Amino acid sequence: VPRTTVMEPDDLRRATWRMAHEILERNRGPEDLVLIGMQKGGVWIAERLVGVVREVSGADVPCGTLDVAFYRDDIGLRPVLSEEATDIPVDLTGRTVVLVDDVLFTGRTVRAALNALADHGRARAVQLAVVVDRGHRELPIRPDFVGKNLPTRRDEVVDVSPAGVVIGEQDGRP
Ligand code: 5GP
Ligand code: MG
Repeated sequence: VPRTTVMEPDDLRRATWRMAHEILERNRGPEDLVLIGMQKGGVWIAERLVGVVREVSGADVPCGTLDVAFYRDDIGLRPVLSEEATDIPVDLTGRTVVLVDDVLFTGRTVRAALNALADHGRARAVQLAVVVDRGHRELPIRPDFVGKNLPTRRDEVVDVSPAGVVIGEQDGRP
């Protein structure tokens, strides 16, 4: 199975460093920000972004997690994680929420996340940060902060981890 490395660990570190700075620039600092990592792939990325924000601004921006399995329109077609995987440590009312995920594809997960967030207060604004935008959107959703735009085929799969970003073939497909 061919696998192509598109980001080395250092590339990924530079990209997340830049994204954290862009988040601060866009929002004129860390005040009233909340970062929320989408289970599971977005959680470590949100933590890394919060770490960079802490380094450069000294601020401890709250960091939560969100599992949207119960809000997806294809519930029943895929495995469901425990709801305990959602942990939003503050009321979102009046805050700017940055949703963080590893990969943006059709946009359906983000749509579900917007529904789920509404249970936690009325955010002032919601922004989206993803490490990889692989295209194939099915909804009018676009990221505010992107690590890398990576055109893919539908049947490819992108692996994002601290060890880097790799494109491969989906298992079980020719
Ligand atoms: P969407 O809901 O936009 O179709 O897909 C995005 C969600 O599915 C994200 O939570 C992301 O983690 C996952 N996803 C979709 N495609 C890929 C992929 O190629 N690689 C990885 N790691 N996750 C993906
Ligand atoms: Mg995911």
